[in-house]
Amino acid sequence: MSLLRQPILLLARSAKVKQLVSTMPVSSGIVTSYVPGESTADAVRATEGLVADGLRATLDYLGEDTTDLAHADATVAAYKDLLAQLAAKGLASKAEVSVKLSAIGQALPDQGHKIALENAREICRAARNAGTTVTLDMEDHTTTDSTLSILRELRKDFPETGAVLQAMLHRTEADCRALAFEGSRVRLCKGAYHEPETVAFQDKLDIDRAYVRCLKVLLAGQGYPMIATHDPRMIHIASSLASRYGRRAGTYEFQMLYGIRPEEQKRLAIAGETMRVYVPYGTEWYGYLMRRLAEKPQNLTFFARSLISKK
Ligand SMILES: Cc1cc2nc3c(=O)[nH]c(=O)nc-3n(C[C@H](O)[C@H](O)[C@H](O)COP(=O)(O)OP(=O)(O)OC[C@H]3O[C@@H](n4cnc5c(N)ncnc54)[C@H](O)[C@@H]3O)c2cc1C
Repeated sequence: MSLLRQPILLLARSAKVKQLVSTMPVSSGIVTSYVPGESTADAVRATEGLVADGLRATLDYLGEDTTDLAHADATVAAYKDLLAQLAAKGLASKAEVSVKLSAIGQALPDQGHKIALENAREICRAARNAGTTVTLDMEDHTTTDSTLSILRELRKDFPETGAVLQAMLHRTEADCRALAFEGSRVRLCKGAYHEPETVAFQDKLDIDRAYVRCLKVLLAGQGYPMIATHDPRMIHIASSLASRYGRRAGTYEFQMLYGIRPEEQKRLAIAGETMRVYVPYGTEWYGYLMRRLAEKPQNLTFFARSLISKK
């Protein structure tokens, strides 16, 4: 783990830092390099560009830690609007959506789990009508059980719903085994949250080793693995394992984040791999941006400069 990663994630929780950063216009270079815009039209335009380059997309309407029902409802409405526009533009076979359950009510007191399930069901229905699918993003470890239980419920009616598992959590290898069945779409990532050592590997090497163990389980299994990483070593190992387990292109896919290693994204697509780009959009880009900065502290100088030049 980068020495700077945990301090940045802790600093990101400060209300003052959030206020300062959130008042930056989205056009600020550092934000637009990771988030193509705030509106549905911006997201659709970015998707068109990716599809023209032979890539696929999964779109995330940014927002997390929703604290009231109206906010959760507005997020559901934003997804429905997006899905209708993707269908209208003929993009639905190339673009799906990623949903954070905390953005649609999971963290609300008392009924949070139930509200998030009902809202997720509504988005899954809209995605099915549009001709595409939903993947449930995974957030910090306190939400893993609730998220996987909502996934199980949704899969009864929408078996195409995808899950995300984070290799850094000790539990994940077992979760991979449980989800490596036919028709099960599983995105494997390293994990973006600051997690305690009681539940998660802390050392980068240990996380990478866990990632490879999970890759083996998913690629040897019957499901549809979605290999989400920018790490050249993990991509190389995943490709070798895919051949070893007799996986043809199209029975798994690679995924990367918008704006990160775009040339590598195109290279993999040209090589015949399915390559999907995660496109976050919307006004609530703060938490997302801070997680990306924590992963790549080299960006901090540039970021600090753009904050100072705002004055
Ligand atoms: C499609 C997608 C969806 C995701 N969904 C979730 C989710 O639901 N929940 C969650 O917790 N996390 C999610 N993540 C984030 C993920 O957990 C990691 O935090 C993030 O991908 C960074 O890990 P990494 O595998 O790229 O490798 P790292 O260990 O961060 O980096 C390894 C190497 O990759 C290369 N690299 C990494 N970043 C860059 C960069 N910015 N520019 C150039 N090279 C770079 C470098 O060579 C670096 O040494 C998602 C990631 C992707 C790609």
